[in-house]
Amino acid sequence: MTEGPTPSAADSSDESSDEFKFRVVLLGEAAVGKTSLIRRFTENSFDEDYKQTIGTTFASKDVSVTDDEGQTRQVRLIVWDMGGQTTYRELRRQFMKGSSGAIIAYDVTRPETFMAMNNWFESFRETCPNAAVVIAANKVDLLDSRIVPVEPGLMLRDWFQADYYETSAKTGAAVTDVFDKLGKLVLRQARAEKKSSEM
Ligand code: GDP
Ligand code: MG
Repeated sequence: MTEGPTPSAADSSDESSDEFKFRVVLLGEAAVGKTSLIRRFTENSFDEDYKQTIGTTFASKDVSVTDDEGQTRQVRLIVWDMGGQTTYRELRRQFMKGSSGAIIAYDVTRPETFMAMNNWFESFRETCPNAAVVIAANKVDLLDSRIVPVEPGLMLRDWFQADYYETSAKTGAAVTDVFDKLGKLVLRQARAEKKSSEM
């Protein structure tokens, strides 16, 4: 994972067009697996040890997206990980600002992380009203300690009008699906906005 202060630091070294490059953020309570989901997605690896993310970091990776016209596009996701300092409202807002999409994650073994989902969703919506949202119900590999079943997750999905995936950063289950879907949604949204600005 690379570290850097601004999205432009991530952008400077490559030539892919801005049309297909998007800032997305990972949101959710501490230790739900945000950093692990990003690492699984970008490096296809997993670490059992919990190291609290210090400061804000990002990683970027391309996903292949089939758009609504059936064309395949490479979409670059610049995925931001906020780390621990999530309690300051203004910091949260700064972090979310300008994002095209968010993955909001909870840990199915800890109901309090599920209960916090609405708070994350509301503050993201406030900052980025039109951005895409995908829900990740993470750590589904922990069958014996799972407490939050699928139904409340589906309720959230309907309530947020978001997509819902049951993920495991450990086994990799559905992790690619989450990011592929987010890539598809941010591209669709960007095109819808472009179209409406041309009218
Ligand atoms: P963050 O604070 O949200 O970034 O959470 P981390 O990615 O640092 O993960 C917190 C802890 O949960 C670490 O010990 C990870 O190894 C563990 N973890 C993360 N995702 C999973 C998962 O899908 N399954 C299991 N079993 N453990 C996970
Ligand atoms: Mg982290």
